[in-house]
Amino acid sequence: MENPKVIAIDGTSASGKSTTSKALAKRIEFVYVDTGAMYRTLAWFCVKSGVDIHDEKKVSAACRKWKTRLTCVENEVRLLVDGYFPEKEIRTEETSAAVPHVAAAPKVRDWMKKTQRDCIRFGNLVMEGRDIGSNIFPETDYKFYLDATLSVRSQRREAEGVNENLAARDERDSQRKAAPLMIPLGAIPIDNSNMTVDEVCDFIIGEMNRVDGKAD
Ligand code: C5P
Repeated sequence: MENPKVIAIDGTSASGKSTTSKALAKRIEFVYVDTGAMYRTLAWFCVKSGVDIHDEKKVSAACRKWKTRLTCVENEVRLLVDGYFPEKEIRTEETSAAVPHVAAAPKVRDWMKKTQRDCIRFGNLVMEGRDIGSNIFPETDYKFYLDATLSVRSQRREAEGVNENLAARDERDSQRKAAPLMIPLGAIPIDNSNMTVDEVCDFIIGEMNRVDGKAD
């Protein structure tokens, strides 16, 4: 495929990035990439292997050595470790709490950047995360930043049966030195507190058409 397109969806925790990105990818037949899942996978791998997540050098060394492979299953990219996709394990409270620590290591972020840019081989992408528009694909014309009020976001997590301190995780993600969470230059901010997933997808598709010069 020549010049695959990348739609960068960044935003705060529980801002609806995954739900929106998945629905959008399905609608426009792009491949969905959850970069948070990749950081979660490393956090899970470190905890499971007894690597101290607060020791940047050890975390970086683990990231250099682990045996991973990217695959695309039903239009979703997966990062496999030793051939295994830890789908459930990466969603536990323990992993959620550990992940911002491993994600703060610059060498980890370099590895992730290379791996995430490599996803382009699967085709047009909807890629969600914290630094997609600012750092992974800064050259893309399609950048969006999702957010919602803290109470709406907390309610969404509670509805999923997860009780976590979202504000603390956002604070850590925003304060780190390496590729912090921010509204990327040129990104369109969307507050989806009172929007349905379909409405957000409509808006994004409308903006893409406008950029492509297809809007009437
Ligand atoms: O999106 P999700 O909640 O699964 O992300 C988990 C964590 O992974 C974030 O809180 C952040 O620490 C890290 N992350 C990141 N950069 C990304 C995606 C996720 O630092 N592009």
